[in-house]
Amino acid sequence: MKQFGIFLFVIIVSGVFVGGLIFFPTKTAVVAPANVNEIISPTIEEVLNPTSIPEAITSTSYEVPSSTFLAATTSPTVKSTTTPVVPVKPPVKIPITISSFSGIQGEPVQIVFSGTKSTEDVSSVSVNGINLPVFAYKDAVQVVYGIDINHKVGSFSVIAKLKDETMVSSTLTVLERKKPTESFTIPDSLGGTNPVGEQNVVTLLNKENALLANLATNPKKLWTETFRYPTEIPVITDPYGYNRDTGTQTVTHKGTDFRAPIGTPVYAVNRGVARLVKTFTIYGNTVIIDHGQGFFTFYMHLSKTSVAEGTIVVAGQKIGESGGTGYAEGPHLHLTVRLNGTSIDPLKFFMLYGRPL
Ligand SMILES: [Zn+2]
Repeated sequence: MKQFGIFLFVIIVSGVFVGGLIFFPTKTAVVAPANVNEIISPTIEEVLNPTSIPEAITSTSYEVPSSTFLAATTSPTVKSTTTPVVPVKPPVKIPITISSFSGIQGEPVQIVFSGTKSTEDVSSVSVNGINLPVFAYKDAVQVVYGIDINHKVGSFSVIAKLKDETMVSSTLTVLERKKPTESFTIPDSLGGTNPVGEQNVVTLLNKENALLANLATNPKKLWTETFRYPTEIPVITDPYGYNRDTGTQTVTHKGTDFRAPIGTPVYAVNRGVARLVKTFTIYGNTVIIDHGQGFFTFYMHLSKTSVAEGTIVVAGQKIGESGGTGYAEGPHLHLTVRLNGTSIDPLKFFMLYGRPL
């Protein structure tokens, strides 16, 4: 009986062991092959008590669910075969705008449009209520506003009407200019430096200035790009914008004086029409060139003029010779640049439309 019991125990243990050999390899097919040696060598205790088998072996987390497999393999296929639809946007129209600008009393200010290179896009422009001609310069649509030397300081409106009837606007800020004062004498020929002579000069100036304020102008732009200086070697002897004090009267110098001994050739700074050739008591022998649309240059105190009124002149054409005629302390060339009825600093103008000295 005892032998039979031992025999029966051996059979049971062997059966379980063999069953285990058959059972566990089926699990290793699912688990990573690296674990095979561990899995096929469980202890008897482990076989009898499955709860002691390491979690890694019994876990099914290594098996890839069919749903996951499908999702991983089918979705890229769907994406790769779909042609993306990109909406076609209409071309963006760049709006025409004007920036804000600032300038000093007595200087020209260049007001430039952005968003267009065609003057036809801009119907009209006004600055502080004054209509200005629109032109293109170096591919930029613009206007140039002459700020009078006695212009009020502060902010002023810039209003433009476009071709499509819309309006754009901006602001021009005018800043104060410092105006130094120097003493000046009056020659005996004009009455001398005394109240009578001073009054005589003021009366004559008012008369001559009134005539210069009403010059006819060509409605078209006559000037071309790049202004040149009126003398071959431009040297400044008297700047724009200071007050000449004669005692009881103050006269503001509204042009630039260039060094020019008598007989120095004087040239037109740009193309235009010789609008006026005349001898004045104060300004002496004078040539005025109309560059069109209310834009003029004045050449004064000449000893000689060599152009006829009404004729076209081109940039660099000789129009006369320098001198000291009229109210002048010595020979020189006085140049005035006038925009929208006001005389501005010629050197500032050359910086914008010619070349700096
Ligand atoms: Zn002068």
